[in-house]
Amino acid sequence: SRPAAALQTVDLSVGYGPVAVVQRVALQVGKGEAVALLGANGAGKSTLLKGLSGLLKPSAGKVLFGGVETQGLAAEALVTRGMAHVAEGRRIFRRETVLDNLLLGMYRLKLSPGERDSRCEEVFTLFPVLKQKAGLLAGGLSGGQQQMLAIAQALVRKPSLVMLDEPSVGLAPNLVEEVFRTLETVRAQGVAVLLVEQVVERTLEFVDYAYLLQNGRVTATGTPAELAGSDVVQRAYLGEA
Ligand code: ATP
Repeated sequence: SRPAAALQTVDLSVGYGPVAVVQRVALQVGKGEAVALLGANGAGKSTLLKGLSGLLKPSAGKVLFGGVETQGLAAEALVTRGMAHVAEGRRIFRRETVLDNLLLGMYRLKLSPGERDSRCEEVFTLFPVLKQKAGLLAGGLSGGQQQMLAIAQALVRKPSLVMLDEPSVGLAPNLVEEVFRTLETVRAQGVAVLLVEQVVERTLEFVDYAYLLQNGRVTATGTPAELAGSDVVQRAYLGEA
């Protein structure tokens, strides 16, 4: 059985104007659980995340975060309530220093300078390379380091749920592994993780539960063991679905 829901959707549909992309999705992320959202390019994974985090307004259905319906809440209100969305493409402030990126991640939270410093130190223990580069411009970091910074910028807010959109994209295999090890540490701290990934095998090693999205609909759900044997998943990743 799964833990109580941190995040839950009921018949959620999300699209762009009249174009329905995500259709009637029921998804749940339990407290402290790691959940994968799998699916081919264009299946609607990023669109679904945006609907969850308030960047897109759902066209129908509900999102419940911590048991509270999020309709009408701005994306920022969800951030301050503990939801973090690490969007695709390493959205960092390239012309600011690494340290300032972390401080900018916290600027909406009413924290004392001491608390801000200690949160930076905490994420630096997770990402020592960011500590070494704290005073350098973020745009000068390698791709992998920029991805770590994007994740770190979410973690300084101490979210209860972090949603990540393909954090491994474009990274060398050793860095992909580093991202997964970081996510394992994050999860071990009790943070729920919703991970969109194309690195399917490694993702299934990491998560407790997974959803497969095809053409905007959930077509398979289960534990990694259940999904690994599923024809639907096999076909989806052989591109025959
Ligand atoms: P990828 O791995 O390529 O990011 P995805 O599963 O995240 O794929 P989405 O990015 O959510 O898929 O896209 C799903 C569908 O929505 C695609 O058909 C895409 O063309 C369409 N789409 C994405 N962004 C927009 C937009 N801004 N306006 C209209 N349609 C869009």
